[in-house]
Amino acid sequence: WTQEDIEIIRQDFPALKQLARGKPLVYLDSGATALKPKVVVDAEVEHLLYGASNVHRGVHFLSEQATRKFEDSREKARAFLNARETSEIIFTSGTTAGINLVAYSFGSLLKAGDEVLISHMEHHSNIVPWQMLCERQVVVLLVAPIDDRGELIMEEFARLIGPKTRLVAITALSNALGTINPLQEIVRLAHAKDVPVLFDAAQAAPHMALDVQALDVDFLTISSHKLFGPTGVGVLYGKRALLERMPPFLGGGDMIRSVSFERTTYAPLPAKFEAGTPNISGVIAFGVALDYINKLGLARIAAYEHELLDYGTKVLSTVPGLTLVGTARHKASILSFTLDNVHPHDIGTMLDQDGIAIRAGHHCAQPVMSRYGVPATARASLAFYNTKAELDLLAQSLRKCVEVFS
Ligand code: PMP
Repeated sequence: WTQEDIEIIRQDFPALKQLARGKPLVYLDSGATALKPKVVVDAEVEHLLYGASNVHRGVHFLSEQATRKFEDSREKARAFLNARETSEIIFTSGTTAGINLVAYSFGSLLKAGDEVLISHMEHHSNIVPWQMLCERQVVVLLVAPIDDRGELIMEEFARLIGPKTRLVAITALSNALGTINPLQEIVRLAHAKDVPVLFDAAQAAPHMALDVQALDVDFLTISSHKLFGPTGVGVLYGKRALLERMPPFLGGGDMIRSVSFERTTYAPLPAKFEAGTPNISGVIAFGVALDYINKLGLARIAAYEHELLDYGTKVLSTVPGLTLVGTARHKASILSFTLDNVHPHDIGTMLDQDGIAIRAGHHCAQPVMSRYGVPATARASLAFYNTKAELDLLAQSLRKCVEVFS
């Protein structure tokens, strides 16, 4: 993409036209949540204004229309992940909900002493649900270590998959380090021992194409809000055979075939895992967000973002006292760093004065912070609407920060 192409793309995002603290907004926090193109918001508003109606039950015009659009989004999500069938696409409220669903439902099939293997670079949402499972069912949580670059140590990872391992749950792309994990290799090693794999793709999905069939992954979770869609929507992909074996998670309307006080039977997939009225307008708008991403093309997005990441890595290296946290060989979209003698929260506050939005903190990945011996990092996270000029502004503002605090 040329600079003109990016300028045209930026026009789709009204948020980018505003000032923050009197300066043009520089949004470098897409890893927390992505900005929304106007078409996505328009689709949600239009549904709420004219199409509001429940799905899967009414016989009237609006309900049929809402159901069709809702199910169209499911088909779009299926195509986006290249799942075999739409019945393998479960709408959730986000990645956190998807992982909790697997931890409760798949987890309920585990026995005392069984093991779940995660890694040292997981987001809290891929740690805590497993710890809760461990408490409920005396399951054991094992953690694969990472090296100083922020890469999984594959020999250790392979060694930790043993006869009692029942699931490997690993992030596809670390939100705290930017590491892209070797997805194919992880699946190969786990499947060699008949262990299913879950990928937390919350952070990966906006930056790289994910093909669940090519990867042969068993579960995968994504969040709409990181994919330029609304909050409160996500997808859990699961292989049909596994989802069939798993008991329902939440009970209620929509997930049943028939209910009596003597005996209730459950609906087939995917309804079995979708109790209650879903976020209908959000799901419909999420479908439009996927259309938008497809129009740009994930291959082109990834190529441009790599260029940005390389450029950002270069300009940040010119800032005195700056240390990048996370220097994996395969990285995307994340520049996590510390500055000598400046607390990350002070960095965030200083940059904010220049209209630059970054995140400062532990990024819901406290074990990663302790691995590197820091309480927090500052994190600039990129999307395709960012520019090299914005990264220059970031470096410039950081230099000012160094001067103020030195
Ligand atoms: N995993 C990763 C790697 C993430 O970056 C995030 C969001 N920061 C999550 C899981 C949780 O996603 P959500 O808050 O959308 O449920």
